[in-house]
Amino acid sequence: MRGYLSRDGMPPAEFLEIGRKEIARYGVELVRDTAVDITRETRDTRETRETRDTRETRETRDTRETRDFTVMLASGRTVQGRRLVVATGLKDVLPDVPGVAERFGKDVLHCPYCHGWEVRDRAFGVLATTPLSVHQALMVSQWSKDVTFFLHTVEQDELPDDDLCRLAAAGVDVVPGEVDGLVVAGDRVTAVRLKDGTTFAREVVFTTPGAVPQTDLLARLGAELYQTPFGSYPVVDSTGRTTVPGVWAVGNAWASPSRS
Ligand SMILES: Cc1cc2nc3c(=O)[nH]c(=O)nc-3n(C[C@H](O)[C@H](O)[C@H](O)COP(=O)(O)OP(=O)(O)OC[C@H]3O[C@@H](n4cnc5c(N)ncnc54)[C@H](O)[C@@H]3O)c2cc1C
Repeated sequence: MRGYLSRDGMPPAEFLEIGRKEIARYGVELVRDTAVDITRETRDTRETRETRDTRETRETRDTRETRDFTVMLASGRTVQGRRLVVATGLKDVLPDVPGVAERFGKDVLHCPYCHGWEVRDRAFGVLATTPLSVHQALMVSQWSKDVTFFLHTVEQDELPDDDLCRLAAAGVDVVPGEVDGLVVAGDRVTAVRLKDGTTFAREVVFTTPGAVPQTDLLARLGAELYQTPFGSYPVVDSTGRTTVPGVWAVGNAWASPSRS
């Protein structure tokens, strides 16, 4: 884990453990389960009750207000709450190349901001997933002068001439041809192998996974979503409030790559 002031280099599991201990101090109950559905009692229903305005019915209404949302869990348990914060993150979809999933987060990396410093000056490969991977190759060329850009499933003629000129100016070697797999020896990547059998000695491979926001539950609640090239994200205001009253989205479930 990098780039998080005061926690640089900490194993992510340790970071999570500290977080769990901290929130437990505030009386938060942590439930290890999967939310499979969420329902919301509509405001219309409650307004009908408010018209019967006796002291007794008002008390009933207040009780109900604390139970606006019902979250159904995979175990069959339900949890109720007055407000809902959705923090379901996103799913990384890695290129289907042997070695990539196994080494992801070790020496197969996606983020030069998180990991660039640690791997600086080493032999980089960049495994293209779309023609836009050119930008990743250019970015990581600021961390090493030894960068090979593997076009993999991208055809060279899909790249604009301008992009090829930029890659040449940055000293990035462009290698056409589908990648067959990563060569892993012991606990490290040592090479990238093409389908034709050619191997290129590389120590670190950057690639850009597809990012699929986990916004199904928000969609089921009726939250307005907008489409991006990276999936559908909730429409939110500056505080993360979605279009469904009482529901906020945070973290990667909120922040589309175009917003962050
Ligand atoms: C390999 C890798 C390295 C990274 N390195 C860094 C780094 O060094 N520094 C940095 O700042 N950032 C780094 N990042 C990015 C960072 O991990 C994310 O930005 C961050 O984790 C987003 O936090 P989040 O809480 O929004 O989502 P997540 O951390 O993805 O958490 C979402 C959680 O919601 C759970 N969930 C999803 N759906 C449900 C459901 N229906 N019910 C119950 N639970 C559900 C998921 O299982 C998951 O635990 C890295 C990312 C990757 C992939």
